[in-house]
Amino acid sequence: MYPSYDVIVIGGGHAGCEAAHAAATLGSSVLLVTMNMQTIAQMSCNPAMGGVAKGQIVREIDALGGMSGIVTDKSMIQFRMLNRSKGPAMWSPRAQSDRMVFAQEWRDTLEANLNVDIWQEMATEIVMEGDKITGVKTSLGVVFNTKSVVLTNGTFLNGLIHIGEKQFGGGRSGEHAAKGLTEQLVGLGFEAGRMKTGTPPRVDGRSLNWEKMQEQAGDENPEKFSYSDTTTTLTKQRSCFITYTSNAVHDVLKTGFDRSPMFNGRIQGLGPRYCPSIEDKINRFAERDRHQIFVEPEGWNTCEMYINGFSTSLPEDVQFKALQKIEGFENAKMFRPGYAIEYDFFPPTQLKSTLETKLVENLYFAGQINGTTGYEEAASQGLMAGINAHNKIKEKEAFILKRSEAYIGVLIDDLINKGTEEPYRMFTSRAEYRILLRQDNADIRLTKLGYDLGLAAEERFTAVEKKKKQIDHVVETLRETSIKVNTANPLLNEKGLQPLSQGIKATQFIKRPHVGMDLTMEANPSLKEAFDGFGEKALEEAEILLKYENYIEKEQKLAEKLTTLENYKIPEGFNFKSITALSSESREKMTKIAPLTLGQASRISGVTPADITILMVYLDKQK
Ligand code: FAD
Repeated sequence: MYPSYDVIVIGGGHAGCEAAHAAATLGSSVLLVTMNMQTIAQMSCNPAMGGVAKGQIVREIDALGGMSGIVTDKSMIQFRMLNRSKGPAMWSPRAQSDRMVFAQEWRDTLEANLNVDIWQEMATEIVMEGDKITGVKTSLGVVFNTKSVVLTNGTFLNGLIHIGEKQFGGGRSGEHAAKGLTEQLVGLGFEAGRMKTGTPPRVDGRSLNWEKMQEQAGDENPEKFSYSDTTTTLTKQRSCFITYTSNAVHDVLKTGFDRSPMFNGRIQGLGPRYCPSIEDKINRFAERDRHQIFVEPEGWNTCEMYINGFSTSLPEDVQFKALQKIEGFENAKMFRPGYAIEYDFFPPTQLKSTLETKLVENLYFAGQINGTTGYEEAASQGLMAGINAHNKIKEKEAFILKRSEAYIGVLIDDLINKGTEEPYRMFTSRAEYRILLRQDNADIRLTKLGYDLGLAAEERFTAVEKKKKQIDHVVETLRETSIKVNTANPLLNEKGLQPLSQGIKATQFIKRPHVGMDLTMEANPSLKEAFDGFGEKALEEAEILLKYENYIEKEQKLAEKLTTLENYKIPEGFNFKSITALSSESREKMTKIAPLTLGQASRISGVTPADITILMVYLDKQK
């Protein structure tokens, strides 16, 4: 009676939306089963996308043809490029979004895709015939037939919410927990675990005294996330505000510690170490007498404020009293208390690099269900799972990104090889090639891959090719141009540049501190003519490539060296136990992870370089 689908995506969060959009755009028929259509792409926690390392991920999603960047551009109320004062590997775009518009834009995007059907209900069971997936069953007993399933349940699997001594089932405040799936998967042989995360209270902006806080405005010339011509460029922005806790705030919070589920053992799951609750911060950093708080608007037309830095699961009366001790919050009214949530996750070492499970063919996991935290981490996994679910049923090649190609590659490689004990979030320090994986060059790194897949549109590919040509031309021209610094030039004077008795290569000149492309073109006006009509971003890219040339080359060489190991294939189903020369720990771990290349094997914790040599010798003999 109901149509059959190529792919069913369970859960309409950040991972689910990207998965459904990707598989459908590639040509699969997709059903998105989600508990509540009103909460599609809901931002469960802070209304912001991007930030350090996460902004790079959003740019990568965009370059591949995913939608998180475009949706953010259409819903943002503030844009900042973080870490501008540091090197370009650290520049990270971050946008504050209108929570309601963000969700609406995602829903519009999915509704505009005729290959996506939506069904609002809880999915309770994956229907199987033997070891083959045939469908998905819902709480009403409706069965939809499908060839593959992508699970993106977020924090909903057996979710348990904690506020002080109160605890109740829920996947998010005001929403039901998802039941049935964990138990079925465990029955099938999957290992499950428990994690926790938390969110701060939301307050009424009309009750705050902004005069007592420090304003944090958006960038003067805001950029956007997407490389495509999305409609948005911000003409106005909303500011955030900064204030601090104090000993008086901490004293009030401490009065609730005996009722805190964090401290009395009621919460069992491990939380995100890098995003601790305020009670955790006070406890762990007892010597500090204040912690920074960012007051962030939740949208264009709402007075609701997100209190970033004040995540808590203390009793609501304690939260309220403590808030009122914060500078500028003396008359604060609270809209919703903060809370913590515990939920089930599945250790991601049970996945292949396509995010397909090793145990059940055509079953994929993406997002928080894999032990990650964050919208960006979830969205990128959803994108990869959606692509791979489609490719597999259409008998196309698996789509895997290398660690040297994308943060998304780092994320998935870390998850499947190392697993995670606590909610995993991306940091620049996790990427060994972070000078290559910049936010400014994600289009150059990935658009062709997205275009070849059929996900990134042709206009994007053409635009990137044009940009690449311009960059090459700028770099080549600068290599052949010399610069003479003439103090008569006021712009050069302003930068305190000494006159040069002899001309120097433009490529040397641009490497100097405080010198960029504008100054280089100013110093030799023939360049202005040569690059007339070139895109601003192409000029910026050429500047980065030349300024950081030595570092980039070094990383590229390293990446190329390691490619040898990455290209060294291990046959699927290889019997690692048969190599007795390997340590028993390595044999056990390799059997569990089942790496498909020597590179992947080398990143499994406990596997030594000696093990890799032994494996290589063994594989060579079999050739
Ligand atoms: P979600 O966004 O959770 O979406 C899951 C979707 O699946 C929902 O739409 C749900 O209705 C649906 N669903 C679930 N089960 C079923 C089912 N059986 N049938 C049908 N539909 C189903 N991230 C941070 O980076 N920093 C933070 O500080 C932070 N704090 C958080 C605090 C709280 C209280 C919560 C709830 C989340 C927090 N997060 C935080 C996490 C962030 O919200 C998630 O990482 C991100 O939303 C995960 O995306 P997802 O797509 O995996 O799942």
